[in-house]
Amino acid sequence: MGNSWRETLDGGDVLLIDGGMGTELQRRGVPMDKVAWSGAAVLTHPDIVRETHEDYIRAGAKVIITNTFGSTRQMLEPAGYGDQVEAVHRGAVKLARQACDNVAEHSVAVAGSISTEPPGFDRDAFLSPEKELEAYREAAGLLADAGVDLIALEMINETNHASRALQAALETELPVWLGVGCKKTNDGRIVSFDHTDMELATLLDALIPMGPTVVNIMHSEIGAIPQAIELVRERWSGPIGVYPESGYFTKPNWNFVDVIPPADLVTEALGWAAAGVRLLGGCCGTSPDHIKALHAAMPELEAARSA
Ligand SMILES: [Zn+2]
Repeated sequence: MGNSWRETLDGGDVLLIDGGMGTELQRRGVPMDKVAWSGAAVLTHPDIVRETHEDYIRAGAKVIITNTFGSTRQMLEPAGYGDQVEAVHRGAVKLARQACDNVAEHSVAVAGSISTEPPGFDRDAFLSPEKELEAYREAAGLLADAGVDLIALEMINETNHASRALQAALETELPVWLGVGCKKTNDGRIVSFDHTDMELATLLDALIPMGPTVVNIMHSEIGAIPQAIELVRERWSGPIGVYPESGYFTKPNWNFVDVIPPADLVTEALGWAAAGVRLLGGCCGTSPDHIKALHAAMPELEAARSA
């Protein structure tokens, strides 16, 4: 079945992960919830969730990420799914594993996604710090118990909420991927994707010392990525990943406008690989075609890596 994700990274090779999940579900007709976004799709549209995972595996992804980005109690309870937080997490892992069993011809790891997004992406709607930490512990514990191989923290954009989520994820003793989102300001600074007043460097300085296994620059503007890679490299000697967004969000829907063509993503990725990036994939707006193109370019990406 080929190398595990750990062996791939330990060997210094390029690890291909999947592309956008929530946005791909939307593209395939799953309505996005105003409060929990794609968080309940595991319950409402399980077949589409499984098929999307299968398409990413067929495209060549060696790691797939569960559809639990919007599934913490913090998001599901106000959306009316408070009784189903456990069912959503267990169901999400089961669908991902079924997809592996159905189509994988290589070793595929399942990463459990956790975000720090508040309900409806409304920053005034966070739970109290104690309840928020409990919500992350619940999600991480359920994902671990359901058998994920690692936890992927996604859309980490500031330090307070993120440190709680990272603490909860680390408590599982599973490997934790720290996924930070960033963009470039008009004056050329690299800042948090959602908090223009927070420098990416500040975010990294607060969270990297907590002990993630991988640092991913994810859901980030493609134009910000070369500088972001340098900021991570100055602070982190472990594996670095990049999975960017493309298009734009008007909640709760993604606008598939000016999405980067797969061939152009490959061109960008060759530069990232040459700069030291070892994990590649896509976030919101990207589809299995993007992963297929990266997979086809793996010899060139490996060559760029060692150039
Ligand atoms: Zn995204």
